[in-house]
Amino acid sequence: MAAMATATAEALSPAAREFAQGGPQLLVIGGERVEAADGRLFETIDPATGEAICEVAFAGSEDVERATAAARAALDGPLRKVSPSKRAGLIYALAELIKANGEQLAELESLDNGKPLAAAKGDIAATVSHLRYYAGWPTKIEGETIPVSARDVLCYTVREPVGVCAQIVPWNYPLLMAIWKVAPALAAGCAIVLKPAEQTPLTALRLGELALEAGFPKGTLNILTGDGSTGAALVDSPAVDKVAFTGSTVVGREIGAKCGRSLKRLTLELGGKSPNIILPDADLDRAIPGSYQGIYSNSGQACNAGSRLYVAHELFDEVILRLASYAREAKVGPGLDPETEFGPLISEEQLERVRGYIDSGVADGAELVAGGASGDGNGAAGPAGGGYFVPPTLFTGVEDSMRIAREEIFGPVLVAMPFEELEEVAARANDTEYGLAAGLWTRDVSNAHKLAAMLQAGNVYVNTWGGGDPAAPFGGYKASGIGREKGHANLDAYLETKTVWVQL
Ligand code: ADP
Repeated sequence: MAAMATATAEALSPAAREFAQGGPQLLVIGGERVEAADGRLFETIDPATGEAICEVAFAGSEDVERATAAARAALDGPLRKVSPSKRAGLIYALAELIKANGEQLAELESLDNGKPLAAAKGDIAATVSHLRYYAGWPTKIEGETIPVSARDVLCYTVREPVGVCAQIVPWNYPLLMAIWKVAPALAAGCAIVLKPAEQTPLTALRLGELALEAGFPKGTLNILTGDGSTGAALVDSPAVDKVAFTGSTVVGREIGAKCGRSLKRLTLELGGKSPNIILPDADLDRAIPGSYQGIYSNSGQACNAGSRLYVAHELFDEVILRLASYAREAKVGPGLDPETEFGPLISEEQLERVRGYIDSGVADGAELVAGGASGDGNGAAGPAGGGYFVPPTLFTGVEDSMRIAREEIFGPVLVAMPFEELEEVAARANDTEYGLAAGLWTRDVSNAHKLAAMLQAGNVYVNTWGGGDPAAPFGGYKASGIGREKGHANLDAYLETKTVWVQL
């Protein structure tokens, strides 16, 4: 039986401690907390210590059947009878419950994911705004009257919920990524089976409880914890009408292929290797801290991380000097320590992967100017013990062809390269299979818009990195995904259009 480290337990509020220590965390199916059909459990690990936090039910294929059946029953029964206005009220009530339980949720997120508590609080606030935004939509889902040319025909469209939705989310922003999918699906009137990542199951389970408390009919939001096999069983289930997935491009391709065969509706939000460009006239007092945040926030574990930095050659040395000094000063530690600015990586597997990339950069001849696999590059190795720490790491002397410049590392590793011309840097920035995000820093309005138009990315940041509002669509070009999340674009992704012809 898993038991949390005493120091960790003491850092938690009673509500978070009780949840994390309250026995194995069970699935949420049809409004009940239930064991997996075969009783299987797994441990969720604290990445700051490498120790288990608690045990969690591991959903298998029988649980997938139970959860999709519960979702279908909700959809065909009580959920169908919930009016748009009532649905709006329920989503709003869920937002308020998340706000009211914000401290507990933020602590659970920080504990399970490793991110600094302040960052986890930011995620919870974003979750609340997201729900509030989508709470406005149920009463505004409208069809159209179509002016068809046939005589005496009334032709109109109706928007209907797409059905039972499987939503598979990653571990980097566990609750926020779940809500990016859950909120529009609820607004559209869908029923959901949500599968959080095996590394971070806790806040999704709490979300399942809070949705019931808010008053959603049982079975509207089911939570299945488990690993990739649980996700795969969901994707394979004939009871699922739509799959929404955020995660690696490798798994996204596999899910896309399966959904192509079964013709399930699909949204994919995948990886990136996003270029960030500092032009010769950039305001460096904004560009340097902005670029630092763009790669290192969430310990580099963000799909839109600005992981390739292109700097105008005349600014290169100054930018590197200042970035390296920020990197060396970062306070690395456990997320629950209020001093921490930079938390651990999510898992031992991820630690090994990131270290492997750092070693490959060194082997390929790049120069490590801050951080490094062991952390001795800047002394910011993180606390002693079993946590999965890699400090902010910066490479120069990088060629565009090196693995560290081409492959998504999903860790705190920045590669910096000088450039000469606008067209040249645009071509190098676009020379990637990915197209999630791109950024540029300049005081020249004309260059800003020229370059923004040239960059092949679903999100372009000018003199900022990240931006984020529930109303603004987010998604990728090329191998970074299919479809858009957030905004009305993601509402559309949870609706079918029915065209009705009436011969008068
Ligand atoms: P990462 O490599 O960052 O962990 P993954 O793409 O493997 O990202 O995982 C993202 C989410 O997808 C997690 O919830 C994970 O359990 C799930 N997952 C992993 N493999 C599969 C799969 N083959 N089919 C469906 N879901 C999967």
